[in-house]
Amino acid sequence: MWQRERKPVVGIFGFSGCAGDQLAVIHMEDELVDFFTSADIKFFHMAQSHQEVDHVDVAVIEGSINTDKQLAELKEIREKADIVVALGTCATHGGIQYLGDNQKEFEERIAHVYGKDGKVPQFSELVGNAQPAEPIHKFIEVDYSIPGCPVAKENFIPIYTKLISGLKPTKYPYPVCVECKFQGNDCFLLHGKYCLGPVTAGGCDACCPTFGVSCVGCFGTYEGANYPSMIAKLVEIGLTEEDAKRKLRMFGGEAVELALRSD
Ligand code: SF4
Ligand code: SF4
Ligand code: SF4
Repeated sequence: MWQRERKPVVGIFGFSGCAGDQLAVIHMEDELVDFFTSADIKFFHMAQSHQEVDHVDVAVIEGSINTDKQLAELKEIREKADIVVALGTCATHGGIQYLGDNQKEFEERIAHVYGKDGKVPQFSELVGNAQPAEPIHKFIEVDYSIPGCPVAKENFIPIYTKLISGLKPTKYPYPVCVECKFQGNDCFLLHGKYCLGPVTAGGCDACCPTFGVSCVGCFGTYEGANYPSMIAKLVEIGLTEEDAKRKLRMFGGEAVELALRSD
């Protein structure tokens, strides 16, 4: 851990995703001056041209791992970082690119897009050889996770501030439904409309149901999620079992895959 006499050294790294989480950080307009002055930002792919990384106190990593080159870079970052934070649902759960049966359908998809040999010759030197998308915790130890697609600054700032202050952040120990109740919302499920709040990690203040839109699960899976019950409820309100699973898979990543496999 850094000494109090110096600023903490931070790196913001990005792998496969839409870069929306790095953008969310840059869009923290009211807090941006504090963000760039409270820490020594050594690496921020989207915001800085001068980039060097030797050692970082805190590495914030966006995106899933989709190539062997990314995997090597990820391991290198872990070696240089005291604390690693997964930023956004691609990094925490695999994200949209984890859709479907990740391992089983991977070769089929690659062959469909790039031809039967499964190589991506025009890009392979630059980005490496493709492999099935995985969240970063599959390969390295992750100290903290901030899900969201993209993350909200209301989630990022408290955790980030604690980390650069040498304190330990706390996790959200409840699903979106708890925050939905705090907001006093009427429940979609009780009116026969789908909503994935019961199986989705809290932290967004149930912003979608509060504005009249069903939760699609973008904060990733809630650790205590009961998938069989969620699927049964979705089927009860009129979805096919296949559609219910497809909705769960959109942001659920590996946790949903494992749960569905053990059905
Ligand atoms: S989690 Fe969402 S916002 Fe973040 S990189 Fe992935 S797709 Fe983009
Ligand atoms: S509307 Fe959705 S998030 Fe809100 S309580 Fe119902 S299921 Fe949960
Ligand atoms: S309510 Fe659901 S879909 Fe909306 S931001 Fe929260 S987790 Fe994401």
